[in-house]
Amino acid sequence: MRSRRGTARIDAAWIGGVRTGEAWIGAAGRGGTPFRCPVCGYLGLDEAPWTEESGASYEICPSCGFEFGVTDVDRGISYEQRRREWIAAGMRWWSRRRPPPGWDPRVQLRELTGEPS
Ligand SMILES: [Zn+2]
Repeated sequence: MRSRRGTARIDAAWIGGVRTGEAWIGAAGRGGTPFRCPVCGYLGLDEAPWTEESGASYEICPSCGFEFGVTDVDRGISYEQRRREWIAAGMRWWSRRRPPPGWDPRVQLRELTGEPS
């Protein structure tokens, strides 16, 4: 229960568009540089998943298939839950678009979580 409560807190912060996301947004940077997916760590989103001004991006992560504003809000699936499912399913590239050359889900996941995979 403790970890679930932690997850909810993190997601709420993201939905608010502040705080918890700073590390990721900061890592990706602004102004043309890609944003990192908070679910799978993919550094290639066109927009911040959530911003204070405009809410969810409704962008679908091509790596894990998470749709910001839909998977989380409408379906109630947390980033952590989706991440676990994605890992359990073999960390497959989600999009029909080809993954970038040298794409390695383990590397992006490590960059996101800071944990060895
Ligand atoms: Zn993703």
